[in-house]
This record gives sequence, C-alpha cells and structure tokens, in this order.
Amino acid sequence: MNANLVNQLVRPEILELSAYHVPDSEGMIKLDAMENPYLLPEKEQVQLGEWIRTAEINRYPAPHAPDVKALIKTSFGIPKDKDILLGNGSDEIIQIIAMALAQPNAVILGVEPSFVMYKMIATFLRMKYVGIPLRANDFQLDLPAMLEAIRVHQPAVIFLAYPNNPTGNLFHLEDIQTIIEATSGLVVIDEAYHAFAGNSFLTALAPYAEKVVIMRTLSKLGLAGLRLGFLIGDPAWLAEFDKVRLPYNINVLTQKATVFALENIDIFNQQAASIVEQRHVLFTALCDLGLQPFESQANFILCRVPEAETVFLRLKTEFHILIKFMGKAHAFLTDCLRFTVGSPEENQLLIQALTVILKN
Ligand SMILES: *Cc1c(COP(=O)(O)O)cnc(C)c1O
Repeated sequence: MNANLVNQLVRPEILELSAYHVPDSEGMIKLDAMENPYLLPEKEQVQLGEWIRTAEINRYPAPHAPDVKALIKTSFGIPKDKDILLGNGSDEIIQIIAMALAQPNAVILGVEPSFVMYKMIATFLRMKYVGIPLRANDFQLDLPAMLEAIRVHQPAVIFLAYPNNPTGNLFHLEDIQTIIEATSGLVVIDEAYHAFAGNSFLTALAPYAEKVVIMRTLSKLGLAGLRLGFLIGDPAWLAEFDKVRLPYNINVLTQKATVFALENIDIFNQQAASIVEQRHVLFTALCDLGLQPFESQANFILCRVPEAETVFLRLKTEFHILIKFMGKAHAFLTDCLRFTVGSPEENQLLIQALTVILKN
C-alpha cells in the first residue's frame, strides 16, 4: 500500500475529514439516533413477510416508482400540483440537490447547530458552506445575521431543518418567510421530524413554491432501515433534480415494503403519537431531576446536564444506555446531551440511571 499515492490523489479536504461516526450499539438501549423504538405488531410483520415474498428481486427496481409516489401523496396530504422525488434516505436528496446546484463558487447556507450532513455534502461537492449561529438563548434564527449572510454570500441554497436537529425547536414561521423573500436562491425546508411536530411548512408553501421545496423522510417515523426520503416541490425543480439521481436509487425491497407501510400508515401515526406523549413524560422527569431540557417538537430532547460528557460515558458503560453527547458539535452545546425518546420502559430506565448518576 502506497500511502503517499493516496495522500497525493485524494482531495485535501477529503483527507481532512473523519468518516461519519456510528457508535457500536450492540446490546445497548439505543437512544442516540432518533429511531422509533417500535417494530410492527406481530400480525403486520407476518403480512409484510408474505407481501415481500413475491418481490421481483431478479429485476431492476422501477426507476420512478409511481405507486410509491402516489401513496406518499395521499398518505401525507400533499397537493396534487406538486411532484415527489424519492431518495435513498433524505441524506441522498440533500446530495442530489447540492449536485444539481454546485456551480463554481456556489454557496450552501445553513444554521449552527443543525444537521451535519448539509456541511458534509457541501465539502464532498466542493461547495462553500456558510453556517450562521442560531440565537444562543432560544435557538431561533438570528434574522439580521441571516439576511446579512444572504446579501454577502448570495447562497444557491439554504437548508433549514423544521424542527431543527439537535435543538428540537421550530423556527418562527415569519422569520423563515422573511428569509425566503430575501434570497434569490432555493430554500429547502427539512421536515425529518414532521410526524412529531405541531406544524409543517406544507401549509405555508403555496405563495413560495417557486423557490421552496420540502424534504421529508420515513426514517424517524419508524422505517429508518428502509432508507426512504422524499422531496416535495414544483415539477420544474424536481425534473432537474431527477437528472442527477442515480436511476435505481430505491431498491425493490424498499419500494415494496414502503407500499405496505403506507397502506398501514395508521400504525406509524399511532406510534408517533405515543412517542409525543412519552416526550412530555421524559421532559417532566428531566425537569424533576433539576436538569434544563429544551422544549422539543421532535422525537428527542436536548438537555443541559452538568458534566455532560461524564454522564454520557457513565450511561454507556454502567447502564448500557446510548445517547448523544453534543459537546463537540457546537460551542453552545458544551454541556448538552440529546436523548431520543424511547418506549416507556426505555425512558424509565434512562431516568433511573440519570437519578443514580446525578446523585454521586
Ligand atoms: C435524520 C435526519 C435526516 C436524515 O434522514 P434520512 O432520511 O434517514 O437520511 C435529515 N434531516 C434531518 C434534520 C435529520 O435529523
């Protein structure tokens, strides 16, 4: 192996990166990745097995998956005049959008802290990433700073997660609208957590449809393993994005399982509703422990915890509970942990463990 050759040929900004880290979770209570804790009920598991049995895995998948798209539209109440683009997770959709817009010197504008893939994908595609800090006190958009960044950098695209990850809040709608009006680029509203949120931008989309698209995913709803994200937007945008999508990006099993899942969407909506209930339970319990959780509209809670990294490590080693330590993500978050809302039993174990740890 000639390491010199690697160093010589690979772009320096790639050499500098560390690969996206996924911690080993074998045997752990997994409250780190915003997964839905529930499987399908036994009866539907059997039905899914039966339904998948006849999947034509000898064939390439349908490139446009019209049945999946039609079901997405009816399941999520998406207006008829919008098109749908499917991605191998919404991560792939971020990449597709960026690939289509990556003209020389094109800028991606985001906020900090937010979802890390916007910046990573900008780096992959040699785009410039500009991240504007949120307001430190309430994690809302710093509107004057955003408007200044739009003026100075003229971003090709702005990514806003609604609700935001890792802070869990919804940005003020009027701020988003002001940003949309100010930019001459595209705005992507990333609604990965819409199933748990009190609002969606879909209802506010109509007047801005020329420069706004909405991105969603089935991952947080309970289907992270399938890898299916989708983009909602005007046909003119989606037709261009579709050109950079690899032809068979959604595999046969995912397409088939998605149809089954969407025909049983009530199960997932009920699970989401119970996760929202559990979010309230967990929030109250964290307050009762004397901690400072932030209000969340998602299926996780960001929380200030004294000696956060020690608490994270003790949860992992002594209690086999995996959560996310946010201290390295942003200066605002040095003492923050992010807890995914789990099942009632998992949340109970988390609270019990925190009670022990915080006492000594
Ligand atoms: C989890 C997450 C995604 C990625 O979802 P996938 O569809 O699983 O790729 C996108 N955006 C935000 C804000 C997320 O938190």
